[in-house]
Parts: sequence; structure tokens; C-alpha cells
Amino acid sequence: MEVDYALLRTIHRILRQLNDLNDRLEKGPRQIAIAERAEDAFVKDLQDVKETRLKSRMAADEKQLQLREREARIEELKSKRNGVASNREYQLLNEQISADQQANAVLSDEILELLEKIENLDAAVVQSETNLDKAQQETKKVEERINAEMASLESECERVGQELAENESCLPGEIKVEYHRVVEKRGEETFAETDLNTCGRCFTLITPQTQSELLMKQSVLCKSCGSILYIKENTALPS
Ligand SMILES: [Zn+2]
Repeated sequence: MEVDYALLRTIHRILRQLNDLNDRLEKGPRQIAIAERAEDAFVKDLQDVKETRLKSRMAADEKQLQLREREARIEELKSKRNGVASNREYQLLNEQISADQQANAVLSDEILELLEKIENLDAAVVQSETNLDKAQQETKKVEERINAEMASLESECERVGQELAENESCLPGEIKVEYHRVVEKRGEETFAETDLNTCGRCFTLITPQTQSELLMKQSVLCKSCGSILYIKENTALPS
């Protein structure tokens, strides 16, 4: 019984098309995942910079409290100094006041430095928020685009799947069994086209025996890779 190689060619084309559609369907969620990972990184950035700002703010508050406490103590020492009788005591208080004043000068510098740092961190928070906002918009865009693509790919898959089933139903009985056994595992690799010289999949030379079987349009498997062979379109046939 002759095999319709044009039918095999058509089924092979449809299998390749389905394979390509499935590849694209798999890529979609991966693209969304990439956008989501980028967004997560910006969320983390923002959290980090906010945390640093909070810590700096707390450190500045603590130092300001210390500064005020020490200022109050200096005032106390000054009023105490007014009431002392001995020179020695006066001297001691002077030294304490001067030590506290020096410590407060250092503290003031530290506070100023911290306030400057907080100001920079405020700007960094704004920048991080902008970055995150952009990333969120980007994720949303990617999701919308991919979801639309997926919907059209899925309906395309369905249409091509139907086309495949219609063509498969035209396969003659003996090939049909072999075909269904193989296609589950191999997909588009079920078939290989040949120009009568080599197998189009594994490039093994076609033996004269196989060549004549092909010319008689028989059901032929490549002896090397096991693909179901069919003659390539527009192959010059020996006269
Ligand atoms: Zn082969």
C-alpha cells in the first residue's frame, strides 16, 4: 500500500509548529518571573535604604538627647560654680564645664554629620521609590503583554491541534499504530524528510534498498535514527 508522503510532510510541519507554539507558551511565564525578580530587587533596595535612614534617625535623636542632657548639666555646674567658696572647687567645676563643652562640640559635629546623611538618605528613598514604581509598571506591562500573547498562543495551539488530529485521522492503519507509538515520545522528531541521499535528521546515507522502498512510497523508518521517512518536496526523482 502506498503512503501519502504529502500527508506525512503536512503532519511533520504541524508537529514542528506545535513544538514552536509550546516553546513560546513556556517562555511567557519565565519572562514574567524575570520582571518580578527585578521588582523584588527594587523592593529590597527600598527596604534597605529606609532601614538605614531609620537607624541614622534614631542615632541622631539619641545624640541630640545626650547633647541636651549635657547642656542642662553644664547649666547646673555653672550655677553651682557661682555659689562655691574655694578656689579649688571653682577650678574643678571650670574643668568639668570645659570638658562637657568639648564633648558637646564633638557631639554637635556628629549630629550635623548624621543630619546630612539623613538628608542624602531622604533623596535615596525618593530615588528607590521611583525605581520601584518604574519596575512595578514594567512588570505590569510585561504581564499584560504576555497574558495577551498566551491567550492568542493558546487559541493558536488549539487550532493547530485540531488540524493535526484531522490529518492524523487520514493516516493509513499500519502507519497510524507506529506513528502514535512514536509521536508521544518524539514529537516532531517522529519524522525525517529525505532527498533520497541522506536522512534529513541524522544525515545517515540512505541505502539503495531504502531508496527503492521510498520510491515505491512504502512506510520506511530510518535505520539509524528510527524516524519515519518521507521524500522531501521538489526532490528530483530518478527517471
Ligand atoms: Zn535518520
